[in-house]
Amino acid sequence: MNLILMGLPGAGKGTQAEKISEVYEVPHISTGDMFRLAIKEGTDLGKKAKSFMDQGALVPDDVTIGIVRERLQKDDCQKGFLLDGFPRTIAQAEALDVLLSELNKHIDHVIHIDVPQEKLVERLSGRRICPTCGRAYHVLYNPPAKEGICDYDGAQLIQRDDDQPETVKKRLSVNLEQTQPLLDFYKQKGELVAVNGDQAIDQVFADIQEKL
Ligand SMILES: [Zn+2]
Repeated sequence: MNLILMGLPGAGKGTQAEKISEVYEVPHISTGDMFRLAIKEGTDLGKKAKSFMDQGALVPDDVTIGIVRERLQKDDCQKGFLLDGFPRTIAQAEALDVLLSELNKHIDHVIHIDVPQEKLVERLSGRRICPTCGRAYHVLYNPPAKEGICDYDGAQLIQRDDDQPETVKKRLSVNLEQTQPLLDFYKQKGELVAVNGDQAIDQVFADIQEKL
């Protein structure tokens, strides 16, 4: 089963990726992990990627695709794989199709965990940090015993600038602008499977299983 997982930040991709990977026995391949592995193994492409990353530059597509190619040829991908964070653009998606056909593989499903934007804002802006001990809370998922107060040292919790609703909204719309063309691309190819991500974690996974 060859899968791609898509969803905006806060949609719960990481949690679902873990479950999919376990149940379908396919490796969860996130872009970050893939780069880290190539760099750790010291492959030519890994070295190239690192030189761009060290400069704070984007890794060019040909290097990224090369790293994806190496990763998908590893033994653990024989039963399939779950790509997460790649492809990010139509150009990368098209390059992936070419690469997969060269490897005699194809994408079975592109799973999109769909959560309304306002829900994502709620999830992503709920984080509160203790300025004294650094502990993190969430107003919905992990609230302190007393609202706005750290359980351990009684300090007043703060909301980081990054977590302010306006900042979160901006980040989400930039992300959506990048993601939408890809969703359209896979929809047109008939590979897109949309799952309602605005439900309990187990229900989201049950829906994924049903659609696969
Ligand atoms: Zn504290």
